Amino acid sequence: MDFSFSEEQELSRKAAKDFAEKKIAPTMEEDEKEHRFRPEIVKEMGKLGFFGCIAPEKYGGLELGTLSATVMTEEIAKVSPSYGLPFNLQMFAPQTVLLNWGTEEQREKYLPGFINADTMGCFAMTEADTGSDVASMKTAAVETDDGWILNGSKMWISGIPFADVGIIFASTERELKHRGISCFIVDMHTPGITQNAIETKLGLYCAPTGEIIFEEVRLPKDALIGEKNGGFKICMNMLDSTRLSSATRAVGVSAACIEHSTRYANEREQFGRPIAEFQMIQEQIATMLVEHEAAKLLVYRAAWMRDQGVRNTLQVSLAKYYAAEAAVAAANTAVKIFGSYGFSTEYPVERLLRDSKSYQIVEGTSNIQKFIIAGYALGKRKDK
Ligand SMILES: Cc1cc2nc3c(=O)[nH]c(=O)nc-3n(C[C@H](O)[C@H](O)[C@H](O)COP(=O)(O)OP(=O)(O)OC[C@H]3O[C@@H](n4cnc5c(N)ncnc54)[C@H](O)[C@@H]3O)c2cc1C
Repeated sequence: MDFSFSEEQELSRKAAKDFAEKKIAPTMEEDEKEHRFRPEIVKEMGKLGFFGCIAPEKYGGLELGTLSATVMTEEIAKVSPSYGLPFNLQMFAPQTVLLNWGTEEQREKYLPGFINADTMGCFAMTEADTGSDVASMKTAAVETDDGWILNGSKMWISGIPFADVGIIFASTERELKHRGISCFIVDMHTPGITQNAIETKLGLYCAPTGEIIFEEVRLPKDALIGEKNGGFKICMNMLDSTRLSSATRAVGVSAACIEHSTRYANEREQFGRPIAEFQMIQEQIATMLVEHEAAKLLVYRAAWMRDQGVRNTLQVSLAKYYAAEAAVAAANTAVKIFGSYGFSTEYPVERLLRDSKSYQIVEGTSNIQKFIIAGYALGKRKDK
């Protein structure tokens, strides 16, 4: 029997595909040129339940599971990689953290808003001097009698400057390195917080990215998620979800590259026949398809494991590494197949190449994924 999806998962895919084609595609190319983000699109996705896949019904979720969320993300990213990102900001990051580590009060207070997108989310580890080496973060939270005081800054944070509530990681005992990091849920409109857009990105023009500055920000006691100094474990657990979601977006990009390239190869004629008839073009398309299918199956397996409640850190890294590399390779090939038109902003493949590069960086670079994979292969890492 072939690998197949449940009826529910197929309906999820169809809902996302229809939404992407009807609500995102019509304005997307113009928005890309203007670098315009439309929060109303994210809010509509929220109202339709797109961000309710992993949360129980009592918080407003639909409990459709990670595989449903995965096929939805794939369909949205195929049309717009930028609008695939909110699956992380509204669902995988904040909801994974709250469901696995939050108190009942924190869940009741925050989950419904993330799910219906009345609350715009973000999650922040990265700083100007701290990327792969998360444990060396400098943003610090100092405990007081009635809560915490947060100082520092975060860089390259998706969703900024539109975030209402963020999952913020900060050092609470710097000398302990990764054992001295804590996780906070922060109202991003608290006095002392500034959100600035980064306008110099290579791609993902419809997805806001920015820096956050924290100056003497007073947080209440219950802003802490989990235990003091327990944040690194929460962060790694969250990354198992957000990484998978970025691998899924990469699969959406390679699907789009294949669709555009095959159509173009059948239409474009040189030497009196469609370029699709040249064996070298066929080889390029076959390679794109093989790598795309392999990436997709790695992603589906990791998502399925999450739905079974099985730890999937290795499988997520395998999927993230391979899907990111396959997306960049597919976009690079697509630009070649389009010739000069691949170099033109009139066609989508140059955008797909620019957007695809983000997957080799976000949620841990390709090198970091290989570092994790090799760790498992060499017996240096083991799941407890
Ligand atoms: C579009 C976009 C959105 C983002 N959104 C978010 C977000 O929402 N939240 C957030 O917290 N962050 C976000 N990031 C930041 C992203 O996660 C980091 O950029 C990423 O983790 C890499 O960190 P860095 O850029 O500091 O690179 P560095 O860590 O400085 O790495 C530089 C180079 O060195 C390599 N390298 C580093 N360490 C090792 C090692 N041990 N072994 C081998 N090679 C190594 C890396 O692979 C890379 O090639 C975003 C980034 C982008 C581009």
